[in-house]
Amino acid sequence: MIAEVIVDISNSEVDRIFDYKLGRSDVTAGYRVSVPFGKRSVEGYVVNVKETTDYPEDKLKEINDVLDPFPAILPEMLALMRFMADNYHLRLADVLKLFIPAQMRGGRVKALVKEFVSVNPEFADRDESQFIRSSAKAQLEVFRYIADNGSVSVSELNRDFSASALKNLIMRGIVSVEEVEVMRTPYKYMECSGSEVQLTDEQEAATKRITDGKGIFLLHGVTGSGKTEIYMRCISAAISAGKSAIMLVPEISLTPQVLKNFRHRFGESVAILHSGLSDGERFDEWRRLITGEASVAVGARSAVFAPLKNLGVIIIDEEHDSSYLSERNPRYPTHEIAKFRAAYNKCNLVLGSATPSVESYYKAEKGEYTLVTLKNRVNKRPLPEIEIVDMRKELRSGNPGFMSGALSSALEECIRSGNQAILFLNRRGYASYVMCRSCGYVAKCEQCDVSLVYHKDENVLKCHYCNNRYSMLDVCPECGSPHIKHGFMGTQKVAETLKEMFPDVNVLRMDNDTTQGKDAHFRILGEFAAKRAQILVGTQMIAKGHDFPDVTLVGILDADMSLHFADYRSAERTYQLITQVSGRAGRDVKPGKVVLQTYTPNHYVYKFATANDYEGFYRKEINLREITKYPPFTDIVRVLVGSEDESAALKALKILGDEIKALSSDNDDFIYLGVMRSPVKKKQNVYRMQVITRLKAGADDTKRKIFDAADRAASAKVTCFVEINPNDLR
Ligand code: ADP
Ligand code: ZN
Ligand code: ZN
Repeated sequence: MIAEVIVDISNSEVDRIFDYKLGRSDVTAGYRVSVPFGKRSVEGYVVNVKETTDYPEDKLKEINDVLDPFPAILPEMLALMRFMADNYHLRLADVLKLFIPAQMRGGRVKALVKEFVSVNPEFADRDESQFIRSSAKAQLEVFRYIADNGSVSVSELNRDFSASALKNLIMRGIVSVEEVEVMRTPYKYMECSGSEVQLTDEQEAATKRITDGKGIFLLHGVTGSGKTEIYMRCISAAISAGKSAIMLVPEISLTPQVLKNFRHRFGESVAILHSGLSDGERFDEWRRLITGEASVAVGARSAVFAPLKNLGVIIIDEEHDSSYLSERNPRYPTHEIAKFRAAYNKCNLVLGSATPSVESYYKAEKGEYTLVTLKNRVNKRPLPEIEIVDMRKELRSGNPGFMSGALSSALEECIRSGNQAILFLNRRGYASYVMCRSCGYVAKCEQCDVSLVYHKDENVLKCHYCNNRYSMLDVCPECGSPHIKHGFMGTQKVAETLKEMFPDVNVLRMDNDTTQGKDAHFRILGEFAAKRAQILVGTQMIAKGHDFPDVTLVGILDADMSLHFADYRSAERTYQLITQVSGRAGRDVKPGKVVLQTYTPNHYVYKFATANDYEGFYRKEINLREITKYPPFTDIVRVLVGSEDESAALKALKILGDEIKALSSDNDDFIYLGVMRSPVKKKQNVYRMQVITRLKAGADDTKRKIFDAADRAASAKVTCFVEINPNDLR
């Protein structure tokens, strides 16, 4: 037999399928193998098994080894691999890597095997005095313990008893040793909690429509409308039908609360996949899924690749979240992968959000998705009232600080009454840039051409693209002036000021800096939930999905931050952020209030957000998109050209630009075409340039022609990545 194998070689141009001789009949497509490649031995994946090959028989090499006792890649995933390579301009080998935990490849992580001992049956019924002298106290002790407990792990015994006594018993064959595999299940001992709830009429109707229906559902439910409960009912229905389920959430909303809920409802059949797991845990959770031991995968974006057979439902919670579009190569849109898998398995896909993406809502409007709406919060509480504060007026009336009079008094009131507050700021670090007031010099990263950010706790300047660190400036390197100004303030500065304002109040800060360690965000959210702090200050990560009953005040310090990005989605993002972060207030019995500070109080986003009028916002936004020809009416295709050699990049850009220009003449799929340096001109010493086009939506043939052009322009020195509707174009 002949096996077609994709070899796993990173950073190489090799993305071909090679034929190998296969001596075994039990190996099918999907097995991970080791094969000779050049002078080396490398890992690969069998993608097909066939009878014959066109390759000369005498040159054909044989597979070295089969690496797992089961196929690591399901047939469905092999089909998905081809779909992704075709549609997103990806290498087959790179796609396969998404399907398998990184730690498993190259055999870096192994199954955890522990030794267990039990009494040899020959000795079980005999009187112990026949084979252990009564003076051998230590041996008697350990023997009795094993006899009483059946199978006991060696490491446990060695902790409590004499190791040499045990060794002696083993040597004499009185007890026998057996190797048993132990699963490293994350949060195994986490206490499960959650109560059975009676569905509200709205929830009941929504659940029924989804479980009785077929296809893709957009579940548009206001914050606090109990969407999670509906997801869990849909998953239960799948499990009752003997099927499996995937539930995706943004990484950050994978809180202990959510995990507890799922463990409570689905017990051991839940596998958890997120970036905070140890290598061993991830490896074992993945194997529990592929062996069918676990049938529900809960996780962040990459869990869409969970190796589950026979899917009964796929759920994407907070479907509008930008983390569902992967930013790193290989780039893929999670929704489209989920659609592929749902179609393959003939199961439903549920997209849930309080603020659906404009693209998804448009598809629901067009009938591609079925819209299911939840208009009320579970507790029938009204949504929190949003008060808009004009910060220009604050400045004019003599308050140059970042906190308006309205917000400080609301905060005082909230604290006095023993409640909790969340302050939201869309920015991390202490100041977003450092500038000389005398000459206007702005400190920039030498490798990335972006402003450096001052981090006060370490007193350094950091580049947020490459993480390079620079010492803080005392004087301006250009003109020598000592008047160095910090630009905008960040979460750290806010937390500091709050401590001055309220010396007796505990303040927690949650942003990229305070959540670096494993489980750090779990800890911060846990402390806030336990009311060990009254104020939580943070960035986007506090906006999502959290459910704190005592939060009655939300302050949005600078709502405009996300509004003035040069990005067609900035109004949409701002609307989503305001609604999501506001939704943290007043979720339980106490009513909530939101104070929103802005320098552009008349912007339409604020009008619709304060009125909680998603449809109104959508209508305005979709009209704008149609007029300006942005998604969903077009697809933005960017080919990013990168090289450490600037002239090589320029040359490739020219070739690529010319090819795409030629392609665009008398092709009415093209709406826009531009060739330029990227806004971030250099990143980690790589020069960055781009060709951006806007194509009519659905122009897939033209897209593939652009992929081919990118392949031709790429070389050993120059990379050409294609992105479709990227999150930003920096
Ligand atoms: P959403 O995701 O729609 O914002 P959640 O799913 O977080 O809302 O639900 C909000 C809160 O309401 C949670 O604390 C949840 O446990 C609770 N809840 C959900 N459904 C019910 C119900 N039918 N009865 C009582 N409480 C419910
Ligand atoms: Zn200067
Ligand atoms: Zn840098």
